[in-house]
Amino acid sequence: MRPRDLSDHVEYRAGRGIEEVARELGRDPEEFVKLASNENMFGPSPAATEAIEASADEVHHYPTADHQDLTAALAEQWGVTDEQVWLANGGDGALDYLHRATLEPGDDVLVPTPGFSYYGMSARFHHGDVSEYDVSKPDGFELSDERVLDAYDGERVVYLTSPHNPSGGRFALDDVERIADETAEETLVVVDEAYGEFTEAPSAVSLLGERDDVDESHSSASRAPRDDVAVLRTFSKAYGLAGLRLGYALVPEAWADAYARVNTPFAASFLACRAGLAALEDGAHVERTVDTARWSRDYMAEHVAAPTYESHGNFLLVDVGDATAVAEAMRERGVIVRDCSSFGLPECVRITCGTKAETKRAVRELNEVIGE
Ligand SMILES: *Cc1c(COP(=O)(O)O)cnc(C)c1O
Repeated sequence: MRPRDLSDHVEYRAGRGIEEVARELGRDPEEFVKLASNENMFGPSPAATEAIEASADEVHHYPTADHQDLTAALAEQWGVTDEQVWLANGGDGALDYLHRATLEPGDDVLVPTPGFSYYGMSARFHHGDVSEYDVSKPDGFELSDERVLDAYDGERVVYLTSPHNPSGGRFALDDVERIADETAEETLVVVDEAYGEFTEAPSAVSLLGERDDVDESHSSASRAPRDDVAVLRTFSKAYGLAGLRLGYALVPEAWADAYARVNTPFAASFLACRAGLAALEDGAHVERTVDTARWSRDYMAEHVAAPTYESHGNFLLVDVGDATAVAEAMRERGVIVRDCSSFGLPECVRITCGTKAETKRAVRELNEVIGE
């Protein structure tokens, strides 16, 4: 027996962890700070930690009621029905569900490059093919409707990452709306808002409801419910629960009931649901995280002695020349940053927003490395 042909499939390459790097360099993990995976600089919400501890002796139960409670809380937050909230094992799990619900074998998805590699990986698992639109460095990683629509060729799913990883840029909501309007009726536009909390821009969730009808055959402007935009959100970044694996898609009401037919039973674990609900109610933790991330990305942009790109996320992309060499030198100095070679950007490193002390240390070390 052999697995199916996986030659088109690529491995996901995650940012490297502290333990892994410390072991490799034969050093004490305490000496390192990891600013490579856009994790929360303050860790999880204390309320989430408490909920996990309090729930530990109940993990023999399937998470039925808790799944419903978290779904209802999210539905209320976003002003959608419970059915429209597709909880999943991380945002990545939600991408899988969207593909299960949309892709027939051979259908294409359109993804940004550079971009988040799991869009394409998941599409391939679901027997789909991948085409790309360029988010190009010479154009400052500009994200626009034109760029997407020029590349668009009837794909079944179109991915818009806003804020975009790794550049930090974002789409204007009008551009998202135009893309949804000008792509085919059977094309789903997925707006990945994994970093949505860190930007001041409004969520594309508003596009799930009624939108102005752009069909010119209508004599007067009308508003009609639309069913071609979905939004992806996660607890991994601003909520600090990356290790628990909790995310969700918000989908149009018209086909929200497909969830029951595509989800893995008990998609989000009991602990994830409990912690997610607690984290959701701890607004102070998110606010502190977002405020610090904004401070950190501004500080880095101002003080790093290399070109940077405006970021709306909890990270900053820096053009350092030789990313692999710089990331390695930074590692030696105890600061782990993301070498963006795997994103196809061998000149760039991506630095996650840390605490104030971590941010200052990262900038100091980076400037010394660049100056060498
Ligand atoms: C982190 C991230 C996600 C989701 O990650 P999960 O941990 O699976 O929730 C999705 N899209 C982008 C662009 C990300 O950076």
